[in-house]
This record gives sequence, structure tokens and C-alpha cells, in this order.
Amino acid sequence: MIYIFCAPSGSGKSTMVNHLLTKHPNLFELSISCTTRPPRGKEVHGREYYFISTDEFRQRIENDDFIEYQQVYEGLYYGTLKDEIRRIEEAGRQVLFDVDVKGGINLKNILGDKATSIFICPPSIDELRRRLEGRGDTSPEMIEKRINKAAIELEDMKHFDRVVVNDDLNHAFEQLDAIIDENRNLRR
Ligand code: ADP
Ligand code: 5GP
Repeated sequence: MIYIFCAPSGSGKSTMVNHLLTKHPNLFELSISCTTRPPRGKEVHGREYYFISTDEFRQRIENDDFIEYQQVYEGLYYGTLKDEIRRIEEAGRQVLFDVDVKGGINLKNILGDKATSIFICPPSIDELRRRLEGRGDTSPEMIEKRINKAAIELEDMKHFDRVVVNDDLNHAFEQLDAIIDENRNLRR
């Protein structure tokens, strides 16, 4: 089973994905996307993202290297290489995707029953703003862009297989663990 995680930025998607990676280090691996945005904070090429130029990104679109890509923010492209999925599956692990909402819906359409799509929902827009400000790595201008986008993304929640409301963190982890357990039991 492949898991596709989507959420408005700041909802706690990375926190959820990291929970699964820590709890099951040999079961899951995060798909590393390509992006044209510059690294933030302590991000490292090949760990958080493959940071590439817009020219290289365009070339890779032409080569049909991406299973999916989006211009997530104005002028900033993000995409998943087909090779990345192959790499993780060949290592015998299940792929986790952390992608934007449109990308997640596209991936679910491409992957069908091979994937469970999970929407991480913030408790409110005000709390989302607090979390983005609290994370301290995003400029005020980018925070406004992300908040505006969040309102639109919440409308797409209905297209997802599962929704986890990330209010109390431990409760959200429990909801997520229950989804994984349910899928594993179904496959046995
Ligand atoms: P995303 O990956 O969706 O952008 P993050 O996982 O980076 O979001 O979370 C955004 C910020 O909110 C981080 O500083 C994180 O520690 C914090 N956070 C995540 N979940 C919760 C929660 N349930 N309660 C309070 N803060 C949270
Ligand atoms: P950030 O710049 O905060 O790392 O990511 C911005 C958004 O881009 C997040 O919602 C993240 O999930 C999304 N994203 C990352 N990789 C991909 C990808 O390969 N495809 C799509 N569609 N979105 C992605």
C-alpha cells in the first residue's frame, strides 16, 4: 500500500509522515520530490528534496520523467520522479507521498487501489496561521499565500479516502495508526 498525504501547508503533514517513518523505519520510505524552490533552514539536497533549477525541471518534464508535477506556488514547481518510486519499491519499502492537494488527487487517480489518500486537516485557519508563524521558517508574505491557498484546499477534502483532524497531536497519531493497522489487517 502506498500512502498519499496531503494538507494545507502548516497542518502537520510532515509531523504525521515523520511519526510513521520513526515508528516503522523498515516499512515506509518518503518519496523525495524535485523542487525549484531554494532550500530552507537546514534542508539538504537529496534528503528533503532534490533542489533543481527551473531549466532542469523543464527538461525533466519534456523527458516525461515525472509521474506527477505541479506549480504549487507561483513560479515554484514540485514533482515526483518515476525513478523515485522505483527506487523505494526495489528497496522493499512502502512509499509515502507528501504532496500538495491537487498532486495528491492526481496521484490517487493514477495509482487507484494501490494507494490510500489521507487528508490532514487543521483544526481551524487561525490555528494554521499560528503553526506556520510558530515554525519560524516561512516569510510573512509566504504565510499569507499559504493561508489563502488553504481555504481553497479544504474544499478538496472530500476527494480523499481518509481525513485525520490534527487538533491534539497524540489523538491524530492514534487516528493515523488505526488507518495503517486496518490496511495491514485487510491484507493479511
Ligand atoms: P506541514 O508539513 O503540513 O507544513 P508541519 O508538520 O511542519 O506542517 O507542522 C507545522 C507546525 O505545527 C510545526 O511547527 C509543528 O511542530 C506544529 N504542529 C504540528 N501538529 C501540531 C499539533 N497537533 N498541535 C500543535 N502544533 C502542531
Ligand atoms: P514546501 O515548500 O513547504 O516544502 O512544500 C510546499 C508544498 O508542495 C507542500 O504542500 C508539499 O506537499 C508540496 N509538494 C512537495 N512535493 C511535491 C510533489 O512532488 N508534487 C506536488 N504536487 N506537490 C508537492
